[in-house]
Amino acid sequence: MTGLFPARRLQVLLPLPLQGVLDYLAPAEMPLRRGDFVSVPLSGRILQGVVWALDPPPSEVPENKLKQVLGRFELPALPESLLTFIDWVAAYTLSPPGAVLKMAISVPRAFQTPKMRTLYRLAVDNPDELTPARRKVWAAALGDMALSLKDWAELAGVGEGTLRGMREAGQLQPVEVAGDAPFPEPDLRLTAPVLSREQAEAARHFRDLVRAHRFRASLLEGVTGAGKTEVYFEAIHEALQQKNKDSPSQVLVLVPEIALTAQWLDRFRDRFGVAPVVWHSGLTPAQRRRAWWAVIRGQARVVVGARSALFLPFQNLMLVVVDEEHSPTYKQEDGVMYHGRDMAVVRAHQAACPVILASATPSLETLVNAESGKYDWLYLGERHGVAELPDMTAIDMRAHPPARGEWLSAPLREAVAETLKRGEQVLLYLNRRGYAPLTLCRACGHRLDCPHCSAWLVEHKKQGRLQCHHCGYSQHRPRNCPACGAEDRLIPWGPGVERVAEEVHGLFPEARLTVMASDELAGPGEIREMVESIARHEVDVIIGTQIVTKGYHFPDLTLVGVVDADLGLAGGDPRAAERTWQQLEQVAGRAGRAEKPGKVLFQTHMPDHPVIRALISGDRNAFLEQEAEEREHQRMPPYGRLAAVILSGTDHQAVLRLARHLAQGAPRSGDVMILGPAPAPLSYLRGRHRYRFLVKAGKTVNIQNVLKNWLFSTRLDGGVRVQVDIDPISFF
Ligand code: ADP
Ligand code: ZN
Repeated sequence: MTGLFPARRLQVLLPLPLQGVLDYLAPAEMPLRRGDFVSVPLSGRILQGVVWALDPPPSEVPENKLKQVLGRFELPALPESLLTFIDWVAAYTLSPPGAVLKMAISVPRAFQTPKMRTLYRLAVDNPDELTPARRKVWAAALGDMALSLKDWAELAGVGEGTLRGMREAGQLQPVEVAGDAPFPEPDLRLTAPVLSREQAEAARHFRDLVRAHRFRASLLEGVTGAGKTEVYFEAIHEALQQKNKDSPSQVLVLVPEIALTAQWLDRFRDRFGVAPVVWHSGLTPAQRRRAWWAVIRGQARVVVGARSALFLPFQNLMLVVVDEEHSPTYKQEDGVMYHGRDMAVVRAHQAACPVILASATPSLETLVNAESGKYDWLYLGERHGVAELPDMTAIDMRAHPPARGEWLSAPLREAVAETLKRGEQVLLYLNRRGYAPLTLCRACGHRLDCPHCSAWLVEHKKQGRLQCHHCGYSQHRPRNCPACGAEDRLIPWGPGVERVAEEVHGLFPEARLTVMASDELAGPGEIREMVESIARHEVDVIIGTQIVTKGYHFPDLTLVGVVDADLGLAGGDPRAAERTWQQLEQVAGRAGRAEKPGKVLFQTHMPDHPVIRALISGDRNAFLEQEAEEREHQRMPPYGRLAAVILSGTDHQAVLRLARHLAQGAPRSGDVMILGPAPAPLSYLRGRHRYRFLVKAGKTVNIQNVLKNWLFSTRLDGGVRVQVDIDPISFF
């Protein structure tokens, strides 16, 4: 075939976890650009891929062995900036580029152009002349609406035959509509709020950066309630006004959890008149396609999304914002393990536009960059308007121990009572879902654990079940101890939010309670309803996990009680203290955000712990300096480089064998240190045994090369999987 037609060689990347690109031939007359979508044969299948390189240097495969490209899709090519980004992420995370490409085009219906559809509009002059069934259709109609015959039938409760009859009689008139409705344009003429002096200064800085059309990273730090959102809205406004290319300017805003952004979306609508385009894993295939198409056409101007939005095919990115940049949810922990915040900086760099990292509690990584001048540093030190930062106090639980099986100390109970008496709202924070984190047998001491993981089962009383929070396994709460058979001797141990709610209900039976935890709320709609109902003060006491810390603004909320401030400080995570401080500072930031002053009480057994002291004194600098020193001493990020290598498999011996084998071949050099292998803290997960190495290296070491040389030459057997996590942030 190749002998008969002139052909050109090209490389195609397939969205598969293969190592790299594959060579193909294409007819010389096929108009191809880098980034084009093509279909190609591979081992008897036909697959869709992306042209990665045209006329590449010759490879080992002789031309007559190469297969032909079957066709090219009539789609816009993926923008160059996205292609470079995919290669960059793949190289940095040591992932196959195909696995990264898959994230960028995981739009099941991207390859179908939206179809035209025929809908029908009612055209009836005199309803009195209609048959009873047709009259039902007429009665169901509202205004000028156009529906499919099927939808009409459903709405009116008649058979489709009736509707076909009406179509024939001209009583229903066809209208052609395009499949996907366009997204409305943001309105740039709406009045902005009057900014305070420090807000205005920061906003001016960002407007200048946007107008400069080049990369620059900034930290926008501000106490909770300082109005960071209003400030970066000004930057978005500026970006939307820019006209530097044929394609309209676009903005990407990353948020930690899109389901928790109801209030943010409302504020966006107030400022820009329309909703932004949202992107997250919960979209339906049709919604995904609509958004993806709008982005690649440059028609989606502002996209707000989870970390996966980084891989959307923006044509003209003018600004990237990462809200709550310290949030650990930006890290993807499976498949391609990347940190959304770090990759956002890379994405902005490649798009030559500014990136704003916003937080009241910035990560140490970002603070170090700000301090060294690598990032600009904008600081808002005052809450907006008359609101003051809340008053923070520690309750020493050694001095005020609650009764057995209870969790609220006397001082916290009193504060709750007073707050409720004043008609204000209380938030009790405990980052533990369910009723009790552990169930044990009083007869033999047996603890109920997951059959697939090295983890306790968590009781969820409302469902009457015990659940594993790692793999999703669940079972009925048994009556008898599975170990010794004793009847009715299983007791819950320790508190979860449900149990605290039970205690509060016993103390304040009149108070309206709500539990806010991810498993209590079925999706964005329910979360929005709950947030709105709290804001309307239809709830007196909120008992919540970390999902309540997400930037919410509840004007009547004046007391925050942290049930266990020590939770999270234990364990081998080098960021345990930093993260606890961030979480508690954020939850504390929910108190007193309007006129009424707020108060925060931390229940702790360690009132002298640096984290607690930093919170109480408001002097976070001393704490962070100490954290930074400690990390520098340990040569941990951001002062050194770190990677985790996790080996896992169902055959324990095979995992162990590979671990020992790798240990023998481990690189040894002055600036690289390998710790392990050791059983991972979660040594058994979803039926797989897990061992872990930690690789520590100096800042200038190319840790990817070290890992490649070490790991990629090893043959894997016995179904053992090796996962590499560059810059790990969780250590499970
Ligand atoms: P942060 O994100 O820094 O915690 P927000 O942006 O949520 O703070 O602002 C806190 C509250 O103050 C919000 O209700 C916001 O609408 C309001 N606010 C902030 N700045 C202004 C301003 N300049 N004019 C009017 N309201 C403002
Ligand atoms: Zn499990």
